[in-house]
Amino acid sequence: MGALLLNHSPVRLEKEQKEKELMRKEKTETHFKEKVSLAGSEERIVVYLTSLRGVRKTYEDCSKVRMMLNNLGVAVDERDINLNASYKKELQNAVGNNKVSLPQVFIRGKYVGNADVMEKLNESGVLEKLLKGFPIQYPKNDCSKCGNARFVSCSECSGGWKVMNNCQYCNENGLMRCPSCCT
Ligand SMILES: [Zn+2]
Ligand SMILES: [Zn+2]
Repeated sequence: MGALLLNHSPVRLEKEQKEKELMRKEKTETHFKEKVSLAGSEERIVVYLTSLRGVRKTYEDCSKVRMMLNNLGVAVDERDINLNASYKKELQNAVGNNKVSLPQVFIRGKYVGNADVMEKLNESGVLEKLLKGFPIQYPKNDCSKCGNARFVSCSECSGGWKVMNNCQYCNENGLMRCPSCCT
């Protein structure tokens, strides 16, 4: 009887509740999903996005994240899956999900999340902390060479890929990363 009372004592329940709360708190405070990482981008901010206006919410979310990072002045490796199909596969492989939405952000190779997550991190000031150490660049991310598309027509094959399909400098669209803003 005594043991039974002990098991159901209010103190114990309170303790359990506190532990549960703490676990919940820790979960929401962990911005990075440990297992999801993007190889080769340990020193970058990578954003997978689309410039297609097909789905309004997606397009707006992509613009939002783009602008948010732009306002903070950091250099971003923007990977437009609409301009380069291999980016989509890359992202799907990284998160292990074929139905991944856009945009998706990785900082220092670690998965951060979508536009909603970024917005919360930005509002709470956490984003600024996460971006510490990245050089601030002016004039921000505006590029006159590619018009911020981050891709330009291939200067190596001038579209010859269409015939031979063997240019190592450009992708399936005959585009190469803008040499001016993407390094
Ligand atoms: Zn080419
Ligand atoms: Zn450019």
